[in-house]
Amino acid sequence: MTAKNSIIPVFVPHLGCPNDCVFCNQRRISGHTQPATAQTVKDAIENGAALSPAGTKRQLAFYGGSFTAIPVHEQISLFEAAQPYLADGTIDSIRLSTRPDAIDGEVLSRLKKYGVTTVELGAQSLDDTVLHLSGRGHTAKEVEDASRLIKQEGFKLVLQMMTGLPGDTDEKSLETARKIIALKPDGVRVYPTVIVRDTVLYDMWQAGQYPEHTVEDAVRVCAKLSELFDEANIPIIRMGLNPTEDLSGGDAAGGAYHPALGELVRSRIMLNRARGLLRGIKPESRVVLNVNKSDVSKMTGQHRANTNILMQEFKLKQLKVRSADVKSGEITVTVLD
Ligand code: SF4
Repeated sequence: MTAKNSIIPVFVPHLGCPNDCVFCNQRRISGHTQPATAQTVKDAIENGAALSPAGTKRQLAFYGGSFTAIPVHEQISLFEAAQPYLADGTIDSIRLSTRPDAIDGEVLSRLKKYGVTTVELGAQSLDDTVLHLSGRGHTAKEVEDASRLIKQEGFKLVLQMMTGLPGDTDEKSLETARKIIALKPDGVRVYPTVIVRDTVLYDMWQAGQYPEHTVEDAVRVCAKLSELFDEANIPIIRMGLNPTEDLSGGDAAGGAYHPALGELVRSRIMLNRARGLLRGIKPESRVVLNVNKSDVSKMTGQHRANTNILMQEFKLKQLKVRSADVKSGEITVTVLD
């Protein structure tokens, strides 16, 4: 969101979720353990409003868990707590995240009545084998049907997908991205699988039944996914789990947990683009890569990783990255001799 927009998050950890996905321990992932109450909603809105300047468009966001699977009277109690703030303009709208099998016409009418404008669906994969092995408890068709209904009813749709789930491959993740693009969401979130303690996935990994999806695996596949979503003009709202103290402190036992995963992915995209442009260049060349000012560190890579890789792969004598008057994401090559 821009500077004039702000999100007021309220976490609804695992509350009401009828499922136990193998990778999920909502308490550890969100870092929140207490169920949200009407008072939590009021406090969050009042604190959020105090922190953002007048004129900011504020959106209340119910994240975590599966909001529309909570008993209806509890959903209504949380919504009602927000209504006075919607009426007086303190907040402008509400968004929430939920499961595809907790959406139908009746649910959507309720959401509309209480001012929800954006629905985020945890799709995770559109491959039925991956969904089954991950214990998701719904099919790809249910994701597609729920997505169409959400759009048809006039809500903004955000789809969340994961990479590296049990049974997943890069090709299956790319196919999931293509199917998501066909559903025309307003945005996506991509969460490479993290192995969190106290989950079934952790036990599977310990028993040698699940191969870890490493940070490198995630960067490789997410760079390809990002190119697909960019071409389709679908914004990637988030790449990788939000870092929390618990996850960084050891709850993330393995998998693709990195506090700056999105930055690593954007850096890999620049590396791949440069590789394409340098194909066929003579060994021992001296080369300058011209990039937008905002892309210099992405092109160079952490600890100069990208420039070192390019120097070696193309046997260059010299490689410089220079800030130039080109569009963000674009690279032009100057060969000095
Ligand atoms: S549906 Fe969501 S909240 Fe429920 S177990 Fe799966 S990931 Fe966790």
